[in-house]
Amino acid sequence: MRHCVFCGEGLGEGVPQAPAPGRRHAYDPRQGRLWEICGRCRRWNPVPMELRWETLEGWEGAVQDRGRTLLESEHLALVQVDDGEVVRVGRPPLPEWGGWRYGDRLPRMRRRGGFLRRILGSLPPPPLEGYDPYGLTGPMGGVGGRDGPSEWLASPFLAQATPLTLAFTAVPFAPACPSCRIPLPLAPWDFQAVRFRESRTVADVTGVEAPCAHCGEWVLLPLRAVRPALRLGLGIVDTDDRAREVGEAAGAGLAQVGGTERFLAGLGRIGAPLGELARDERVALAMALDAEAEAEALEAEWREAEEIAAIMDEELTAVADFQAFRARILDGLGG
Ligand SMILES: [Zn+2]
Ligand SMILES: [Zn+2]
Repeated sequence: MRHCVFCGEGLGEGVPQAPAPGRRHAYDPRQGRLWEICGRCRRWNPVPMELRWETLEGWEGAVQDRGRTLLESEHLALVQVDDGEVVRVGRPPLPEWGGWRYGDRLPRMRRRGGFLRRILGSLPPPPLEGYDPYGLTGPMGGVGGRDGPSEWLASPFLAQATPLTLAFTAVPFAPACPSCRIPLPLAPWDFQAVRFRESRTVADVTGVEAPCAHCGEWVLLPLRAVRPALRLGLGIVDTDDRAREVGEAAGAGLAQVGGTERFLAGLGRIGAPLGELARDERVALAMALDAEAEAEALEAEWREAEEIAAIMDEELTAVADFQAFRARILDGLGG
């Protein structure tokens, strides 16, 4: 059984030949893409397919023959086929794409809630009193108290401190720190400080600068190397209904600056830290990174469709320094 990479909800079994009851998919017959839409958190999970053209022909046939359109915009349609529902993707401009995939245009199928079950499953059992990233239960009464971590105090991501902590103690921010060489640990409260930079390497015009929690150096990393961890973090901080409210505006903003590549290059020029971006700018950033990741997966025949799943499956137990970082952060929380 596959699981939603964002919230851990179980997705359906296998790739159905046509829209299936109780599940919701989206497909793009022009580019040969298929996603399963999580019934809980509403995020779109790419479905790797070996036989995508044959499969999608079946979907297109079912939609054309038996489909009943429930909701339609110029380039996207929610279609009911028998007892299943599917989103047919045409060539949507960015505002329409933002409204449907990241926004409120698509009516929800079931309840939402919960987060990061896979990451939680990989952790040692939490202390009896639970994790306490705010330090609210410290011996001196919490934040500002003797043992309460104060690192989160100025962070706009305070409300997501727990899931961010669980995420960044489970996965490195980049495969290797250019300075100390171990998988780069990011202190979870430093997610807000991560900033874009112009970078002149061959592969990327945009780089990302972040502080390594092991050696303490600020290092410049290629965007591609940090993209999965960045997408994971953005998935955590922008998973609520307010993020959905700005989905369409985020798409419109991207269209206004001339597309996702121009937007990323612009962030590099400005160099603003993540914590200073407005909500719609962050959602636009997530849209741009998803688009890059999925375009690359498409070039690789859509086989490795979700890079976030890959970093979450990485084996880090052999990296003593990363384990030490993880213990230090989690012990601080539990105590
Ligand atoms: Zn989900
Ligand atoms: Zn380092």
